[in-house]
Amino acid sequence: MSNIFAAVLKSVYAQSTAVLARQVILHGACVGSSNPDAWFPPEPTSRSDAGKDLALVEYEATARQLCGSCPVRAECLELALREEYDLPRSWFHGIRGGAAPWERQTMVSNRRRTARRLAARQTAPDEAVA
Ligand code: SF4
Repeated sequence: MSNIFAAVLKSVYAQSTAVLARQVILHGACVGSSNPDAWFPPEPTSRSDAGKDLALVEYEATARQLCGSCPVRAECLELALREEYDLPRSWFHGIRGGAAPWERQTMVSNRRRTARRLAARQTAPDEAVA
């Protein structure tokens, strides 16, 4: 993820889910497309982390190309991450926010890990009191 896109994503983080959904519906480049199936290309069967194979790279390139000029890409990605947060990995499909399903799985996993860490910190006994 580019630094610029990461900064934009950070700026939409504070927006409500309803606002994000509305922006995507109103301005998404894929909304009303004559070929909506383009955002659901056949997924590579292998999602191994051990070296990316060509099918994964091509899928990710397709995602960047399809969503590259979308004016609400950051909003769309943030919305996808919220909607997919509680889903099992096998339910992630299609291109959203310029990201392939396995890329969003990684982002969601990172969010879950951060949330668990924060929750653990809040429930930990106060070490300052002895
Ligand atoms: S970022 Fe991609 S998937 Fe999301 S609304 Fe835009 S074109 Fe559609």
